[in-house]
Amino acid sequence: METEEPRREQEEETGHVSADAMLYCPVCNQRLSEHKCKLVCVRCGYYMSCADYC
Ligand SMILES: [Zn+2]
Repeated sequence: METEEPRREQEEETGHVSADAMLYCPVCNQRLSEHKCKLVCVRCGYYMSCADYC
């Protein structure tokens, strides 16, 4: 099984792009909440399982 990393977006002017970036919703930029093995966006309902980022 290969680990699939999301393609990085272009860095924004903040220059604050790191592994932490994946803790934010790619849809609405809301900070994702951790629920067991999932990261969930409480704002739009987006979520990803740990299999996507571990
Ligand atoms: Zn969202």
